[in-house]
Amino acid sequence: MTEFSLELNEDQLQIQKWVHDFAENVMRPEAHEWDEREETPWPIIKEAAKIGLYSFDFVANCFLDPTGLLMALVNEEMSWGDAGIALAIFGSTLAVAGIYANGTPEQQGEWIPQCFGTPDDVKLAAFGVSEPDAGSDVSSLKSRAVYDEAKDEWVLNGTKTWITNGGIANTHVVVVSVDPELGSRGHASFIVPEGTPGISQGQKFKKMGIRASHTAEVVLDDCRVPGRCLLGGKEKLDERLARAREGKRTSTQAAMATFEGSRPFVGAQAVGIARAAYEYALEYAKERKQFKRAIVENQAIAFKLADMKTHIDAARLLCWRAAWMARTGKKFESGEGSQSKLFAGETAVWVTEQAIQILGGYGYVREYPVERWHRDAKIYTIFEGTSEIQRLVIARAISGVHVK
Ligand SMILES: Cc1cc2nc3c(=O)[nH]c(=O)nc-3n(C[C@H](O)[C@H](O)[C@H](O)COP(=O)(O)OP(=O)(O)OC[C@H]3O[C@@H](n4cnc5c(N)ncnc54)[C@H](O)[C@@H]3O)c2cc1C
Repeated sequence: MTEFSLELNEDQLQIQKWVHDFAENVMRPEAHEWDEREETPWPIIKEAAKIGLYSFDFVANCFLDPTGLLMALVNEEMSWGDAGIALAIFGSTLAVAGIYANGTPEQQGEWIPQCFGTPDDVKLAAFGVSEPDAGSDVSSLKSRAVYDEAKDEWVLNGTKTWITNGGIANTHVVVVSVDPELGSRGHASFIVPEGTPGISQGQKFKKMGIRASHTAEVVLDDCRVPGRCLLGGKEKLDERLARAREGKRTSTQAAMATFEGSRPFVGAQAVGIARAAYEYALEYAKERKQFKRAIVENQAIAFKLADMKTHIDAARLLCWRAAWMARTGKKFESGEGSQSKLFAGETAVWVTEQAIQILGGYGYVREYPVERWHRDAKIYTIFEGTSEIQRLVIARAISGVHVK
C-alpha cells in the first residue's frame, strides 16, 4: 500500500532549490528594471537556456515527475523570483502544452523541441486562441482555416489578440475554426512554423503588470501552412467533424484540452507571487517600528499575516492536488484544475494587497517591490480563464447543471 505523504522527495527538493537560486540570484535583481523597460528580458532567457532551465529536456523532466508536482514547484519558485520574467521564460510552455494535447507522437517529437531551440540558438513559442471578439467565449472564434487540397496546404486568416510571445515567437500554435457552424467542436490547432509568410505581429500591449512578458496581436493573412501542420492530422479531424455534424459526442475540444491540464501550474505561479509578498511583508512588519514597537506586535498586522500565510498554503495544496490528479490519471470530478487556479489567483491579488497595506506608503511606491507584485498578481484572475469562468466550470461540474 502506498503511504500518503506531502513530503517532497530528494529530486524534487534539489530541483526546487536549483530553481530558487536562479530566481533569487538572477531574476530578482533584474525584476524592477525589466518591469520598467517593458521589454523581453533576452539576457535572462539566454542565461536560463545556458544552465538548462529553459530547455526541452528540463520541461519534459518536470512533466514526467510521477507525482505531477515538479512543474508546480518550478513555477512557484520562478514566479517568486519575478512573474513577468518567469512568463517571458516559460511562456513557450503553453504552446508545448497545445502540441502535447493535440499533436500526434510524430508531431510532438518534431515540434516541441523547436519551441525551445538550443542554448546557442534560443527559440520562443506562442499559443494563440483569444481573439478581439472571442475571449471567455472561445466557441465564437472568427479566424478560419480552409484546406487547399491541390497543394495539401491550410490557409489561415484572422486576428489573435493578447498572445504571450505573439509575433516574436519562432513557432506559433494557433487554434482556429475549420467549420464555424460547429462552434468549438469545429476548432483545430495548427503549427505555424518559423519563417511562414502571412503571419505578423499587430499591436504590442502596454500592460499593468507582468511587463517583462511580451503580449501582442498576431495577424494571419492568407498564411499557408503545409497539411502536416494540422495537429492530430486530417484523418482524425475529418472523423471528429463528421461525428460533430451527426450530433454525436466528440473528444475534448482543442483549446479546452490545453487549458485544463495547465491550470494548476498557472495557479502555482500565482502562489509564487503571493509568497514573495507575504515573506517581504512579514520581515518588514518585524522591522518597522511605530508607537515604539514593531508593527507586527499589533494583532491587526499579525492576524493579517496569519491569514495571508493560511491562504497561500491552502492555494498551494489545491494546486498540488490538481497537478497530482492530472498526472496520475484521476478524473477531475469537481473542476479541481479550475479550483486551484481560481483560489490561487484570487489569493495572489488579496495577499499582495494586504502586503501593500502592511508596508503603508512604502508599499505604494516603485522603490519597493510590493506594488509590482500586486500589479503582477492581477493577471491571474484574468488569463487562462477568468475567475468567473473557473467558477462556471466548477459550478457545472458539481451541479451537473449547465449554469450560465
Ligand atoms: C497579459 C495577457 C496574456 C495573455 N496570453 C494569452 C495567450 O498567450 N494566448 C491566448 O490565447 N490568450 C491569452 N490571453 C487572453 C486571455 O486568456 C483573455 O483575456 C481571457 O480569456 C478573457 O477574455 P477577454 O479578455 O476577452 O474578456 P471577456 O471574455 O470579454 O470577459 C470580460 C468579463 O466578463 C466576464 N464573463 C464573460 N463571460 C462570462 C460568463 N459566461 N459568465 C460570467 N462572467 C463572464 C469575464 O469573467 C470578465 O470578467 C492573455 C491575456 C492577457 C491580458
